[in-house]
Amino acid sequence: MPNPSYPTADALLHRALQHVEDWEQSWGAFDPHESLGVDPDRLDAAFDDYLGRLEGNYPFHHPRYAGQMLKPPHPVALAAYAAAQRINPNNHALDGGPPTSQMEKEVVIDLADMLGLPDTALGHLTTGGTVANLEALWVARELHPDQALAVAENAHYTHGRMSDVLDMEAVPVSADARGRIDLEALDRTLDQHAIGTVVLTAGTTGLGAVDPIDEAISLCEAHDARVHVDAAYGGFFRLLTEESAPDLPDFPAGRFRAIEDADSVAIDPHKHGLQPYGCGCILFRDPAVGRFYQHDSPYTYFTSDELHLGEISLECSRAGAAAGALWCTLRALPLAPDDGLGPILAACVRAARTWAEAVDDTDALTLVTPPETDIVAYVPAPEEATLSAVHEASQALFDAAMNDPDDPIFTSVYRLSADALTTLRPSLTADRDEAAVLRSVLMKPEHETYAESLVEQLSTFAMDDV
Ligand SMILES: *Cc1c(COP(=O)(O)O)cnc(C)c1O
Repeated sequence: MPNPSYPTADALLHRALQHVEDWEQSWGAFDPHESLGVDPDRLDAAFDDYLGRLEGNYPFHHPRYAGQMLKPPHPVALAAYAAAQRINPNNHALDGGPPTSQMEKEVVIDLADMLGLPDTALGHLTTGGTVANLEALWVARELHPDQALAVAENAHYTHGRMSDVLDMEAVPVSADARGRIDLEALDRTLDQHAIGTVVLTAGTTGLGAVDPIDEAISLCEAHDARVHVDAAYGGFFRLLTEESAPDLPDFPAGRFRAIEDADSVAIDPHKHGLQPYGCGCILFRDPAVGRFYQHDSPYTYFTSDELHLGEISLECSRAGAAAGALWCTLRALPLAPDDGLGPILAACVRAARTWAEAVDDTDALTLVTPPETDIVAYVPAPEEATLSAVHEASQALFDAAMNDPDDPIFTSVYRLSADALTTLRPSLTADRDEAAVLRSVLMKPEHETYAESLVEQLSTFAMDDV
């Protein structure tokens, strides 16, 4: 039984779409053009086919899906998105969607506040973390055209690719076995190269590891380098560093707190902000960087002298619905440590810890490293094994668990270098350069309840299989 106050998408969607329909009708009824009509049989067939094909998805909504960073939006986000989508405002210019543009400005301040940035920070929503990070790197280049980026090996691959797009030099910085930037290597890089901006990661996509942002920022300050924090995945966890947040011993709070000293931050509401895809955000501490975006548009910007978001965004058309959905979600489920988002994130962290403990408790599975956020890596092998055995067993368990006809469990496979694996698990023997491990992103709070039984079941697959 769902909690009685858990809103069903059906009821909210109906209310949302009915409201917009009434609003549309209030402008006066008119006949849609006949060219927009659809043959009923064809429509029926198209929908049958379409809905059937959607069943080819993995069950992202279900606790048994413990694989990649995927989950459906919250029903509030879904219904709020659908309502605005029916109107289809474009947050490029105020002309294209006055209410959702205003909502975007408000949620950007909310996100800045959660990250500890001043409310004068300049920011806007993007279609995702890729574009948010691209804008941060582009501003880094405009500020320091003759200086390089420093990007750790553990950073998302987008930084390497986008520095190519921007024709910027990106100096690689090594990471430790858990996938956190190596501070000594960073110090050396800052000494030996002209670095304008350093990219740090608050929650890696691979292992959910959190760079020592506090210490790294001190090094960057000493070398006069700017800092961009890629918090696309992990930014929302900063809520858990507040005093009123649920108690989580050993949570890397200091590292998340230090995001407040960054020069720019990318964060993805479509990852831990309960939103459907199409919602990232970039924030800059110094609003003066808005000058780099300056352009004139002969088409838009007529209705108001106030800021049009298109004037500070590289993307032109953007879904007003994405801003509306985030705004409405954060009104219903606030960005608070002890209400709304905070308890959801805390449950995800506890789920990862429960998963890790359950792995430790079974002989069939071995933990790769304790989780720092809500991503767990583990291998279906005894403590002493070769990396070839680990590699094959991981792949085999991934397949077997997913294809079980009665009780499938979906995990994901992640590759770690032999160096990292044997550092984390010295009892493993390196007989190859890298090996597959299993990875579970426990980003649904329900995972807290199901973690133990899912691991137990995985361990029986592992024993059958290996
Ligand atoms: C997901 C992610 C990205 C890429 O963002 P998209 O929203 O997929 O475009 C970049 N960096 C990190 C750390 C991420 O987790």
